[in-house]
Amino acid sequence: MYTELDMAEIECPICREQVIFPQGEPNVFECPECVAELDWNGKHITGVITNRHYLFVDGEHFSSRFDPEKFADAIDFANEVMDNNITVLSSFGHGGNSIVTEDSIIDSMDFDRSFSTFGIVFFVISLMGFLLLLSNGAELAMCMCMVPSIFVLSIAFVGGNTHTSEDLVISQSAGGSYGQGNGIGFVPDSSYYAGYVWKDKTFTFNSFKSVNENHYVELRHFSYSGGDNSHPRQGFMYKMKNGDVAIGSYGVDKIYTSVHNLKRDDLVGDFEQILEIRNQLKKKIGIYLPIKINFDSVLTPQKIMKIIESDSELSKLWKKLKQGK
Ligand SMILES: [Zn+2]
Repeated sequence: MYTELDMAEIECPICREQVIFPQGEPNVFECPECVAELDWNGKHITGVITNRHYLFVDGEHFSSRFDPEKFADAIDFANEVMDNNITVLSSFGHGGNSIVTEDSIIDSMDFDRSFSTFGIVFFVISLMGFLLLLSNGAELAMCMCMVPSIFVLSIAFVGGNTHTSEDLVISQSAGGSYGQGNGIGFVPDSSYYAGYVWKDKTFTFNSFKSVNENHYVELRHFSYSGGDNSHPRQGFMYKMKNGDVAIGSYGVDKIYTSVHNLKRDDLVGDFEQILEIRNQLKKKIGIYLPIKINFDSVLTPQKIMKIIESDSELSKLWKKLKQGK
């Protein structure tokens, strides 16, 4: 028997009916209304199974990354992504979906297989060369003849594998193809910030959080000087943050600016570019997000802050960004 205090009233994310779960008692329950299977960890739902599988990645920052009472909206969004090819907004986000066909999987597996065979043959030939040189005592030449084949062998067995035989089974059971995708960013026409990956019938959220003025976007300045085969690039890496916790992050996302030396006019240009992105976003989500910019990539960030503080236009822009107004 549970007392009133031991029970939690939860909205079923599928049918939106209220269901009662025992607090602190993990189990998989069936919703009495819609028979969805609900994976309950004793505090919140971490998985929902219908003919699809929806997962909410559990962890120490769960409450910073998720609004469990909004999981019905999360599932509506997931279905929109899988059925109608929608994705997150591109302002402070990115995402996309694609179709994987059985043929493309077979092609990539065939390529991997022939490349592996090539790697082995190449390795054996160079090994023979190595043994031949061994009798001559030419150490450097011995190394030189092994290095490329070991390199090719490692690519053949470690990298390059874009699909597995498991993918093949999925595509065959799905009738020849399946969808997949990922995204980090705002759900269109809402203030939800979502991070997710999906494949066929499994949709995994790592965030689904209603963002308000208490959240902010952290921008971190970066610049790459470029090399023989790449251009110099400059801009800001961004993260949506809730206190110290980054929400929705899969890797690093960037805004590119022009390449410059962080002089006064350059900073004005950068700040205006960032404000413009935020204004576009405001039209879609209804709030101005506070933006905190960090110049710790620069040797002397204090110098940048001095430029900003000593200039009235710059400090006005800086304040505007920080306040979220
Ligand atoms: Zn239900």
